[in-house]
Amino acid sequence: MKIKPIIIYSLVLLLSCSSSIFKGPYVDPVLEYAYDDWKTECKSRKIKLRHNTCDLDSILYDVLDEGIWGRCFGNKIVINRLAVAPTDTFLIKLIMYHELGHCAFDYGHIDYGVDIMNSVLPVNKIIAYKWFWDLLKEDYFMRYQLPKTRQRLKQGNSYGEVCIQSET
Ligand SMILES: [Zn+2]
Repeated sequence: MKIKPIIIYSLVLLLSCSSSIFKGPYVDPVLEYAYDDWKTECKSRKIKLRHNTCDLDSILYDVLDEGIWGRCFGNKIVINRLAVAPTDTFLIKLIMYHELGHCAFDYGHIDYGVDIMNSVLPVNKIIAYKWFWDLLKEDYFMRYQLPKTRQRLKQGNSYGEVCIQSET
């Protein structure tokens, strides 16, 4: 009686996240270096990518509404190509970490102090994120919890919310 669920569970695992099938999300070439940076940081902390990104289908450099820099749609991340120049490498990395915070780690927003998960990242303060990047990155990864122990955010709760916005 107990064997059936195990078989089903193994099959689901095999079809979704097995190492032989799992190739990770499609990443737009413009954004690849930022995703690679995040992956390297994960690996150095022994965070398994497969467990965190197997629901993630693609990371795109595409069009979003004006004033929005990035958004996590659950299985898809979009960075707004109308708002972020491909040459703005730090900003792209910051948005990448923020959106992967939602999509891969189920992080919500943190709206006190300077934090990668701030819901609004004002244009004129991006320099502060750059200065404190190493510390911000430590804070970001300190919050990491294994998928099975974290409480997953429900669809439509934080996923679709407006992320990083420019403040005028
Ligand atoms: Zn956000």
